[in-house]
Amino acid sequence: PIILGLESSCDDTAAAVLRGREILSSVVMGQTELHAAFGGVVPEIAARAHAEKLDLAVEQALAEADLPLSEIDAIAVTAGPGLIGGVLSGVMLAKGLATGLGKPLVGVNHLAGHALTPRLTDGLAYPYLMLLVSGGHCQFLIVRGPEDFTRLGGTIDDAPGEAFDKTARLLGLPQPGGPSVETAARDADETRFKFPRPLLDREGCDLSFSGLKTALLRMRDKLVEAQGGLHEADRDDLCAGFQAAVRDVLAEKTRRALALYLADAPAVPAFAIAGGVAANRAIRGALESLCAERGVAFTAPPLRLCTDNAAMIAYAGGELLAEGETSDMALSARPRWPLDRAAAPLLGSGK
Ligand code: ATP
Ligand code: FE
Repeated sequence: PIILGLESSCDDTAAAVLRGREILSSVVMGQTELHAAFGGVVPEIAARAHAEKLDLAVEQALAEADLPLSEIDAIAVTAGPGLIGGVLSGVMLAKGLATGLGKPLVGVNHLAGHALTPRLTDGLAYPYLMLLVSGGHCQFLIVRGPEDFTRLGGTIDDAPGEAFDKTARLLGLPQPGGPSVETAARDADETRFKFPRPLLDREGCDLSFSGLKTALLRMRDKLVEAQGGLHEADRDDLCAGFQAAVRDVLAEKTRRALALYLADAPAVPAFAIAGGVAANRAIRGALESLCAERGVAFTAPPLRLCTDNAAMIAYAGGELLAEGETSDMALSARPRWPLDRAAAPLLGSGK
């Protein structure tokens, strides 16, 4: 079937057309410039921008796919979790399109979209282990089906992407912080500043990143006080030390998550990483060698499919539809929607 997907849960307005695993088009309209002056995403501004741009994104996605709206077999839409105003815009448009076309509607959990992306890009077989690591999330999931997720652990405070963004802000580097911190860290000394490795002493797969920000702030202020400012080399070494700490924590917790996953003796052991932080070469490299040691296939979808997009929503919607799942006109927008309890409330009115 040909599926039109819509995504508007954060600060990207996106629409995509998929035929099975084939991406006929994937349009992503960012809002970075709208929020730049505010140091973060402003919900009201985001909601208004989604309301203004969604139609255009759909039009463009259909034009790029070279298909009329009448060729669409089903509409998939992010129904949460996310900023309620944006999610509502998407859900309302999707309902209108589905009603107008007389085609099925399916509400998709945004996180399920991320978690199923390696099936879209690489056709991974269930069950696989996934590390979802983005600006808003960090969790380990065993993915057994489009509605079957077991959460092994996750961050108890900040998400790593958020920590990268804060680090960049504290050091006067441009947003988004991930790429700027990675660039600054490239040839720097990661051992000069001693960052903590939070939560490694605690059993299990939970993670913590807020302590890194506090440590960074302290180190920065000490340098500024001692020498009246930050030299470029100081800044770069701070970035390298911070990035190494995130890498080490993610690697150690991934090692533990892999052990839990492998205990189930999956037929084709596979690990996938998704979310914007998956773009980081140091982090990716560490996880890749960990998997190689354990004979687990490593998958990292291309970045444009790791960050927010509608192709993943259309794909997840397609898997749900294949299982006979559809949503009705009572589909609601859900600001909070944890994945591991998603099985029952994933569809329908989402009560
Ligand atoms: P979510 O999808 O969880 O709601 P989000 O939409 O903010 O959150 P993504 O779009 O998946 O997340 O990723 C954006 C985040 O990824 C930002 O915090 C950004 O700093 C981070 N990021 C991007 N590139 C890199 C990189 N090379 N290294 C580290 N972090 C990165
Ligand atoms: Fe996302």
